[in-house]
Amino acid sequence: MPLLSESNPRTVVREFQTHLRQWYRREHRRLPWRTRPDVYRTVVSELMCQQTQIATVLPYFERWMASFPDFDSLARAPEELVLKHWEGLGYYRRARFLHAIARTLSGREPPRTAAEWSQLPGIGPYTAAAISSIAFGRAVACVDGNVVRILSRLSGDETVFPNSGAAVRHFTRLAGSLMDDDHPGIHNQAMMELGATVCLRKKPLCLVCPVQAFCRAGPGGFADRLPSIQRAATIRQTVDRAWIVRKGKLLLRRLPEESRRMARLHELPTLEEAGLASAVTKDQRCETRIRAITRYRITERIWFLSDCRQFPVRSSGSAECCWIPLDRIDTVTLSGPHRRWVREFIADAG
Ligand code: SF4
Repeated sequence: MPLLSESNPRTVVREFQTHLRQWYRREHRRLPWRTRPDVYRTVVSELMCQQTQIATVLPYFERWMASFPDFDSLARAPEELVLKHWEGLGYYRRARFLHAIARTLSGREPPRTAAEWSQLPGIGPYTAAAISSIAFGRAVACVDGNVVRILSRLSGDETVFPNSGAAVRHFTRLAGSLMDDDHPGIHNQAMMELGATVCLRKKPLCLVCPVQAFCRAGPGGFADRLPSIQRAATIRQTVDRAWIVRKGKLLLRRLPEESRRMARLHELPTLEEAGLASAVTKDQRCETRIRAITRYRITERIWFLSDCRQFPVRSSGSAECCWIPLDRIDTVTLSGPHRRWVREFIADAG
């Protein structure tokens, strides 16, 4: 009974939906935004879960709800406090988008359709479909990387896509043809859950899959190969940063307003920003950290230059450098890796 195309008989589609829905009701993970769903919790969880693992999101979600339980309380909060609650979760623009959404919707009825939600900041087609289906029962299919993976395997579609956006566009019609109009929120969540817990990228758990009877690639033994999306080349970069402590204060850089993702967050300054580009010698202590952001592999070299007094520490370009007392580091918002490194180096020194 394979699902080969968008023109499957209605009875097959019904049967697929029923298998999926019953499995989801039985097996889904009990997450806080699922046990007490409302539109605000759905919006917060959807933005938090973009590009972030659920296990990472859980403590942030609980803290967020304790401080900002609804759109009105979030709208009233100062941005610094909102960013502080997001510290370590990454992609800080999501916090600003949530804040802007709360300010737009505070004291108003929230919109209901995916088209209306997609007018709001930070809400793309996937998130708009998720919110409108889960919170308002609108029959709009969510299509993201997880859903693309499931649909490519169900249909056995071996098309090679130049990028993930092309794959999403390709499978949107099939996703729509499978949508359960009577239970759209459950259907979308079930597809997400299937992708997250059963139809895994590597080694899918076909033996326990609730829709195995409808799948071509799983029983056919070629699920691992799908979807076929060309990988973008990895870009490697090296960044040199300065660790400078004077009179119990650490030099940090406050990122400028025009910084698209990180505006007003703090980081260790680069050597150029600190005016210390020529201060480094081979003998100085240097710690290396490697991190990956999308297709970038960034080698961060952190130079310990507290004794380097012959060079003035100054702001340059658009960077704004400031001295923060070590015992007040927690009062400023640092980007996730920098917070980790700063805590680690302070602990080492203590
Ligand atoms: Fe994915 Fe396997 Fe289920 Fe097919 S049978 S949808 S490949 S888990």
